[in-house]
Amino acid sequence: MKYLKNIFGILIVSLLIFSCKTKEIIIEAQEVDDIVTYLASDELEGRDTGSEGIEKAAVYIESYFENLGVEPYFDTYRDSFNVKDKKAFNVIGYLEGTDPKLKDEFVIIGAHYDHIGFAQEENGDKIANGANDNAAGVGTVMTMAKYFAKTKSNKRSILFTLFSAEEKGLVGSKYLAKTLKAKNIDLYVMLNFEMVGVPLVDKDYTAYVTGFDKTNLAEKMNEYAGKKIAGFFSKAEEFRLFMRSDNYPFFKEFNVPSQTFCTFDFSNFEHYHKVGDEADIMDFNHMANFVNTFIPAVKKAVNAETKEIKMNPSK
Ligand SMILES: [Zn+2]
Repeated sequence: MKYLKNIFGILIVSLLIFSCKTKEIIIEAQEVDDIVTYLASDELEGRDTGSEGIEKAAVYIESYFENLGVEPYFDTYRDSFNVKDKKAFNVIGYLEGTDPKLKDEFVIIGAHYDHIGFAQEENGDKIANGANDNAAGVGTVMTMAKYFAKTKSNKRSILFTLFSAEEKGLVGSKYLAKTLKAKNIDLYVMLNFEMVGVPLVDKDYTAYVTGFDKTNLAEKMNEYAGKKIAGFFSKAEEFRLFMRSDNYPFFKEFNVPSQTFCTFDFSNFEHYHKVGDEADIMDFNHMANFVNTFIPAVKKAVNAETKEIKMNPSK
């Protein structure tokens, strides 16, 4: 009996180890809350390009990457450039792919981490905190980086790119897209996240995707997720949002699917580029749910055997 007990013991211990190893990483609302609340705090003064506040944001993102074992893609995490007389830098993390062949192909997961600094004063507040725009997108990218760093489940290589100077005219993403084009990397898709801190209302999808009909991205993401996570939003076409965020320079340089996912529909959030864009009005349960919903689909995209996300012909 004693022998049998030992066998049982060993069996239970190995089951535990096995289940720990295969345990999925779930992103908690508190984690996104912590990230967005810090990035959108008054201390960071609206993360204007070249400011002390954005420097703090960069240090925060770099240490998050470092703690996870997400590596710098360049010599450091910083991809530096100038905007007029101001020094600016994208923050770039890298996870090499696990597949000997597919690792030569790249997926970029990005969001801009800069904001506009100060804005029209309201009730003594001048700081445009940029919680929804775009600490929320940054939190999404950072927690996705955490997922892939912990699970080591990416066959393709991933660049986690936090752009600066988006608000100055997509300067950071243009700079990086040109640099990567000059290096001739094999870019598969670029997935960008903008203003995802508040859920859509009365829509049958989780986020809309800009440049909807240019590619089959929405169709594939919905297939991967097993539900409708990406949809068509007519105002995104009307306001040409496809060309107005950091996805666009990658589309231009590489002519591969490069699109933005967004949950801001012009009616569900009234503080766009205003001082009221604060962390305490973000919906962190929605955000955690958003990230946990997108991760399995992003993972399938990153690991698909062939490049099945494609440009639509004639678009
Ligand atoms: Zn933005």
